Formats: sequence, C-alpha cells, structure tokens
Amino acid sequence: APLRVPQSQHGIDRKLVSRHAIKVCDVLHEHGYQAYIVGGAVRDLIAGAQPKDFDVATDATPEQVQPLFRRARIIGRRFRLVHVVFGQEIIETSTFRAPGNGEQTTDEHGRILRDNVFGTLEEDAARRDFTLNALYYDPATEIVIDYHGGVADLKNKVVNMIGDPARRYREDPVRMLRAMRFASKLGCDIAPATLAPIHELAPLIENVPASRLFDEMLKMLTCGHAMACLRQLRAQGLHKGLLPLLDVILEQPGGERFVELALERTDQRVQAGKSVSPSFLFAALLWQLVYRRWQQYQADGELPMPALGLAVDSVLDAQTEKLAIQRRFVSDMREIWFMQPRFDRRAGKAAWRMIEQPRFRAACDFLQLRAAAGEVDAALAQWWMDLADADDGTRARMLEEAA
Ligand code: ATP
Ligand code: MG
Repeated sequence: APLRVPQSQHGIDRKLVSRHAIKVCDVLHEHGYQAYIVGGAVRDLIAGAQPKDFDVATDATPEQVQPLFRRARIIGRRFRLVHVVFGQEIIETSTFRAPGNGEQTTDEHGRILRDNVFGTLEEDAARRDFTLNALYYDPATEIVIDYHGGVADLKNKVVNMIGDPARRYREDPVRMLRAMRFASKLGCDIAPATLAPIHELAPLIENVPASRLFDEMLKMLTCGHAMACLRQLRAQGLHKGLLPLLDVILEQPGGERFVELALERTDQRVQAGKSVSPSFLFAALLWQLVYRRWQQYQADGELPMPALGLAVDSVLDAQTEKLAIQRRFVSDMREIWFMQPRFDRRAGKAAWRMIEQPRFRAACDFLQLRAAAGEVDAALAQWWMDLADADDGTRARMLEEAA
C-alpha cells in the first residue's frame, strides 16, 4: 500500500498551487473520476520552489476529460493527453498509464518505443523515472500519495530511480540526463545505485532522437544550474554524444571560459526569475567555433563580413543537424552573430540603424559576453550598452561625440 502523506509532513502550501489545476481536479472529482496534481509541480512545491507548470493525472480517458471543460483539446499522437486552457495557463491532463511491458515495445537496446497503454494509479507511479517525480497530490484532502518513498527522498535530498536503474536507463537513456538535472537543480545527491550504471550506459544517448535530446538539453541549460549540470555530465562522460560541439569548444584555449561565462550569466538570469533566450544561449555556445573560423577565413584573405558568412554557414551546417536546433532559433542566432562586426564602428548613421534592429538588445548583450571573455575592448562594449540604455536625446549626443 502507498504512503498517504498528510500536509503536516509534506508541507505543501496550498496557496502556491495553481487554482486552475485545483479546478481541473475538482471537476474530474465531481464526475466520479480520480484526479491528482502530479510530477514536477508536486516535487517543486515540497522542495519549496515555484513550479513552472502543473500537470494532472486521472483515470478518465482523454475522450472523457475533454467535454468536461470549455476550452480543452486532445493533443499528441504517441500518447494522447488533454490540454485544458485557462487564459495563459495550460493544465496538461493525462490518463494513468502502465509501464511499457513486453519486448515488442522496445528497440534492440531496450529503449521504449511505445508506452501508451492506460493503467492504474499504481502502474502510473511505477512507470515514472525517479521517486521524487512519482508523487500525487490531492488538492481536496491535501494528501500526497507516495508509492516509492519519494517524499522521504526529497527531504533527504537524494535522487533515486524507481525499479532497476540500468534497465530504466536502457528503456530511456534521457533519464541519465534527467538524473543529473534534478540533482543539480534540487541540490540532491544521486543515490549510488542510481548513479553507478550511468558511466557504462552513457553511449546509449546516441540512440535518442535529436529533437528529444534538444528539448532535454534546453531544459538542462535553462534550469538555473547549467554549470553544475555540465560539470556532472563531464564527470560521467555523458557530454560526448550529447554535445559534440561542447567537446570541441571546451578543449580549445579560452573556449571553456567563454562557455562558463555564458552559462553563469544564464543561471543568474534564471535564478532572478528572468527569461532566457535559447537563441542567445546557442549563439554563445557555438560562438568560439564561429569566431575561430572567422579569423581563419580573414587570414586567408577574405574581407570581414564575407568571412563571417562563411564561418557561420560552416558551423551551422555541421551542428544543426546533430543538435536539431529549431529553425526559428537559427535565424536569431545568425542575426546576433552578424551584428558583431558592426559594433566596431560607432559612426552616426550606421549606429542608428543598429539600434533599430529587432535583435539589437541581444546582440549588445552578446558583445558584453565577448568583452568579459577578453575578446573585444571592454570600453567599446560599455559604450554600446550605455547607448542601448539611453533615451533618444542622450543617444544623439553620444553618437555626435563618437563621430
Ligand atoms: P520540469 O518540468 O521541471 O523539467 P518535470 O518533472 O515536470 O520537470 P517533465 O518532463 O515535465 O518533468 O515530466 C513530467 C513527469 O513525467 C515527471 O515528473 C515524471 O514523473 C514523468 N517523466 C518525464 N519524463 C520521464 C521519463 N523519461 N521517464 C519516466 N518518467 C518520466
Ligand atoms: Mg514539467
């Protein structure tokens, strides 16, 4: 039987729970279904962090859930779930699922290809990855249902795999990355048995579809503890298949410093509750490759702008396929990069045109990063930052003085 953990023990403050998630549970209860808030939100609430989003798990099927709400749509092909929409907030509502069982649903490495079989609450808990991610909060009673000792693990700050860790990593190698991310983010240790198989199984990451890897990597890079994650990854040899580009960058002189600066800055922004732009982040991670090739093309006799164009194309050709960087990010990255040489000139008209570019802010931030890494003059970077922050009158005066 599962533990039924009362509020006095798990300590979740009901005021921090999304009222829309509570509403979804209430409506499902009224219609005779089970419904719980589940997963990351419960984990974060117990850990004292503000959840990013709220998910609900229920024994109602998507077809039963959808008509109960004014704005709800069924999404997903592999497993169908319901998005219940309340203004800006979406409550992802999924039906209890059973763990994948039987060989026909896995590939030759044991990776799960199909896991869309509905199940019971107990089965739904068993198919989740870590004990601290398998907690079910009933907003009506404020009780947390805990099949795998997740509340205790959370209080003891330890990431524990549910079931046999090696088998669970084979089913889904992304769980190796998730273990690192949750440990870094929550300040937890990874339990010895959960950590042990990772080193040997790390190469399985290469079998994961690029788009899933990209999603998980983006989560790691924007979890507010990207540097800690990266250190863990390198210690386990997990960075190799995952970030081919990082291998190259981190081994180049000065490359490590640049990535560190970019990630520290990102971590600070996330921890301050500010948004981070994936394009900026990937522009920063790939910049050292671009920069070196840019210098090389210029040494070979190309003019600065065409040389940059060649460098950017060659780096993006090599990296976007592996990383599955989405197209909309790539065009922003290009803009940030192509504005860099134009910061050299502070002349009047060109500078006004720069300010009007939609990515001027991001490009200017990027320039600060380069200055911090010692790549461009700090005074120049500061001048552009001051210009970005100034009102039009001050800008006119600054540009006149610079001319
Ligand atoms: P966050 O959203 O903060 O990154 P999360 O725990 O909510 O963390 P999601 O990827 O949103 O992570 O997944 C929601 C829940 O689904 C998890 O808490 C976990 O219970 C389950 N889950 C997600 N990915 C896996 C996986 N690869 N294997 C098993 N269970 C998973
Ligand atoms: Mg989530």
